[in-house]
Amino acid sequence: MVYIKIPEEFGYEARELLNLFFPGNGFAFAEDTSRVSSHDVMITLDITGFNLKIELWQGNKNLYSETMHLESKDNTNQLKIPLKVLLYRCLSHYTGKKLPWGALTGIRPAKIVHSLFNQGTGPDAAYRKLVDYYNLSHSKARLTVEVALNEAEFIKNAGNNVSIYIGIPFCTSRCIYCSFPSVAINKYEHLISDYLKALHKEVRWAEQWLKDKNTAIDTIYIGGGTPTALPENALDYLLNHIVPVLPLENIREYTVEAGRPDTLNEKKLRIIKNAGVTRISINPQTMQDKTLKLIGRDHTTGQIIEAFNMARAEGFKNINCDLIAGLPEETEKDFEDTLIKIGRLNPENVTVHTMSVKRASRLINEKGNFKQTDDETVNNMVELAGAFLRKSGMHPYYLYRQKNILANLENVGYAKPGTEGIYNMLIMEEVQTILAFGAGASSKIIYPENRIERVFNVRNVEQYIQRIDEMIARKVKLLDT
Ligand code: SF4
Repeated sequence: MVYIKIPEEFGYEARELLNLFFPGNGFAFAEDTSRVSSHDVMITLDITGFNLKIELWQGNKNLYSETMHLESKDNTNQLKIPLKVLLYRCLSHYTGKKLPWGALTGIRPAKIVHSLFNQGTGPDAAYRKLVDYYNLSHSKARLTVEVALNEAEFIKNAGNNVSIYIGIPFCTSRCIYCSFPSVAINKYEHLISDYLKALHKEVRWAEQWLKDKNTAIDTIYIGGGTPTALPENALDYLLNHIVPVLPLENIREYTVEAGRPDTLNEKKLRIIKNAGVTRISINPQTMQDKTLKLIGRDHTTGQIIEAFNMARAEGFKNINCDLIAGLPEETEKDFEDTLIKIGRLNPENVTVHTMSVKRASRLINEKGNFKQTDDETVNNMVELAGAFLRKSGMHPYYLYRQKNILANLENVGYAKPGTEGIYNMLIMEEVQTILAFGAGASSKIIYPENRIERVFNVRNVEQYIQRIDEMIARKVKLLDT
């Protein structure tokens, strides 16, 4: 057993890293070191003055020791990163294991690079810092710097405007890995009209707020659920009566998730196109029929191709396709075949997610029923996707990580240059306020002094409808502070 003695306020950060080195229960926090036997391993971390010291002992034999001098230690947050770096090095030394993302456990690795750029650090020095200090693998460090460079032009000066997110929490069936706020449309059809009325109220409030603050909208993203699960008349009402309440004159991008091909037809695509939407997402996740069935998606690969061609015929010039590496039971060959089939569709964007088992998903309770892809295979799939998409003329333009992601990897958005999903970059790098409407939507307010606050709408659709005034009041309260 590995015991760790660490100041309490760093327990969360330490646990995150320890979980990656010892998945399951191979470690414990030791308040009382007398419980530790001479066979156990003991890690201690001490802060004395401006020195942070980590030691690893087995019995009375010291196996590792490192001290880091701190530039500043004004608050707990400033100590968290050096602490994680030291702990990572110590655990890596002890286990012989190297993690692709080194000491980084956060969601937004490229944010570190942007902050280095803002301090005047160049791309090469930023890359060295990721490798030498944070212990990233060379390929992850290269990827992160490349993403930050590709994002830079799109996110600069974004702070003066806001982006809008609208959540439509209805879908046709539930994918096993889904953790989004979404309910089956056939069971909740009776709520659609009241839901749209509530949404309309939130949007009307936003219109007034934007006018009062003389603030423009930069991008709009309609997600869910699957917005195109709405019947045609409801979709039409959303796009032609609710959204146009907002000042749309200066928007750079307008995205609608049309994720499930079984929700699409020519009429819906025409409604979306005529409403001025510039980017849609048709999400295969895989081009293997057997997997689609296994993960609870009630459509075939044939329907994906049909929906994609229909969207092209309606004139959509920017289509994203989401894929997942590491879906249950899939082999590398399956994934390669998916990439080839997606390549034939020739989308502008492909977002490659690595499978993650989220707490709000069905999969968390049904894990035992599926064969989980091993780390090496998922890693190969992710590498394969990167190489394939680069060869197809795309580059990585946004990047994020999640908890419980297979092989501790990442999600990467690839795009043909000039077609990048701007909203994705803005939300990931936290450079612009996002006002979010609908059940389960979370707004993120970015203040000039780098303070970030979040405000959440309730997830339950009925509750959202009943408590719409409260949802608006929550935002007012936060925005006025
Ligand atoms: S299509 Fe998207 S929203 Fe619908 S169930 Fe699947 S993951 Fe959830």
